[in-house]
Amino acid sequence: MRRHLTYSLSFIFFFSLNAALSQVQNKQTSDPVYIKAGKLYDSENDKILTNYILQVADHKIVEIGKDIAIPKNAKVIDLSAYTIIPGLIDGHTHLMSLSTITEPGYITNQILFEGDALRALRGANRAKSFLESGITTVRDLGDSGPFLDVALKNAINEGSVVGPRMFVSGPIISPEGGQVTGLLKSKRDVIASDYTIVRSVDDAINAVREHVTYGADIIKICANNSPNSISLTIDEMKAIVTMAHRYNRKVTAHATNDIAALEATTAGVDAIEHAYQISESTLQLMATKGVALIPTDLSKSLFYKYMEISRYAGDKASAYESYKSGMQDRLQRAIKANVTILTGSDNYINFEMPQGEAAKHILRAYLEEGMTPLQILKSSTYLSARFMNMEDKIGVLKQGAFADIVAVKGDIEKDFSNTIFNVVFVMKNGEIYVEK
Ligand SMILES: [Zn+2]
Repeated sequence: MRRHLTYSLSFIFFFSLNAALSQVQNKQTSDPVYIKAGKLYDSENDKILTNYILQVADHKIVEIGKDIAIPKNAKVIDLSAYTIIPGLIDGHTHLMSLSTITEPGYITNQILFEGDALRALRGANRAKSFLESGITTVRDLGDSGPFLDVALKNAINEGSVVGPRMFVSGPIISPEGGQVTGLLKSKRDVIASDYTIVRSVDDAINAVREHVTYGADIIKICANNSPNSISLTIDEMKAIVTMAHRYNRKVTAHATNDIAALEATTAGVDAIEHAYQISESTLQLMATKGVALIPTDLSKSLFYKYMEISRYAGDKASAYESYKSGMQDRLQRAIKANVTILTGSDNYINFEMPQGEAAKHILRAYLEEGMTPLQILKSSTYLSARFMNMEDKIGVLKQGAFADIVAVKGDIEKDFSNTIFNVVFVMKNGEIYVEK
């Protein structure tokens, strides 16, 4: 009885202490900071404004406008020589995965020789590089071991690790074998930490419940398993979509070819990743059903780097031209069909630069494929936020939004390609991470 009483008392003490602490935290206020912007990208209305002032306090944008009175002695950050944009959103990352091109079995190597602890620690280091390059939010889409992405997200949110806001998928839901070719059937459990394998509609239903339970914010599936040649069935994908939507999770599908994109769209997914080959009719169906496209293309300089590292012996210029014309054709047809384009770097290759910097090349790739600077900015801010129903909080510079603010040096409209890499200031959640 006595033991029971002591236990109850400590229990009550613990909860009252917690309640008191959370009250203190809620009451905590920070002194307002005033940011002067030379130019400012209004992502919601897709235009560049000049000479705006933002008031930031308690992690949020409190006020934004031209005629904001700055009190005497207030802290002022003068970015009037620069352009301010909302923190960028990369919708397709793999923070726990980076391979050298010459390493064919990199997924199994990561599982067998790198291990969960080292992967997570390296992921934390890569997360920092995203934030430093101005990417304040990522959707991390698998190749992340047994929910290591959830662990990294939690570590960032509690302040143990520096990185962007993360929305994570956990393991990719996939048919037999995942994306690993040549795996022996007797060793198929090796990939169980990186893929949730489904072999039936019931498996598909359970996979979503498992993912929601263990912390997934979004469901990532392999509509086709490329480079493996098999696919999920439409019924399996429909079951996944129904369950995911029931728990308010979006579904995005790896789909490299037309049939995979068509079947995933028919099954009701919310977005298609890659779509290297896609027909007019599938694009039309995507537009009708409001399915977004995330083109994960390589910029010219990364494509050349890829050829250099992989010791490509052929004609480099013609290899790039043929790659680019295919990607450009697909992107422009998608835009013409009114498909929403979201930003996603899918950068899992070691390009010998920080992963966050390499990830930003996706914006350059879109420019090279004919998107305008403002189209690219809108895609990587407002539209990517809207996809997550977060357009009041991230990807925008407006009252009430989280203070995710980036400043770049240069002319964002006339010299987008260089300016977007010229990051001089990064604030996430009201905290400054880069100030040059
Ligand atoms: Zn990917």
